[in-house]
Amino acid sequence: MPLDDIYKEVILDHYKKPRNKREMPGAERSCSRNNPLCGDEITVFVHEEDGRLADVSFTGQGCSISQSSASMMTEAVGGKSIKEARELIRQFRGMMAGEADPGEDELGDLVALKGVVRYPIRIKCAVLAWDVLQEALGDGEGFASGTSAH
Ligand code: ZN
Repeated sequence: MPLDDIYKEVILDHYKKPRNKREMPGAERSCSRNNPLCGDEITVFVHEEDGRLADVSFTGQGCSISQSSASMMTEAVGGKSIKEARELIRQFRGMMAGEADPGEDELGDLVALKGVVRYPIRIKCAVLAWDVLQEALGDGEGFASGTSAH
């Protein structure tokens, strides 16, 4: 099977059976954004424990790229430290900008989205969930969530 088809299957699998797609009442961090170009909406919830992303979930609607990217993201960053999650965001952005070519060792299922780089209009779809996560995590260490669910 050509690599592109395998990747397509991974994306469709996450789209049809999204992982961690649920609301999270009491999440310490949450944030929403949309991509008006495509009509995608993503809300990300993070339960933080001891500086780790103990639980990450999302809700939303939109195209297969945006929703599968969100699903894969929750699996990829769940359990990681905030620092590690930020590093993963950086790697994913690099891949989507065509600047880096990470393998499955680094990004797991997420490499399935690599092909999206060829379709500039869809890159926003793929990056949306990551924008939301980054905003929810904040940039500085002393971040106090402006859109906390509390
Ligand atoms: Zn989209």
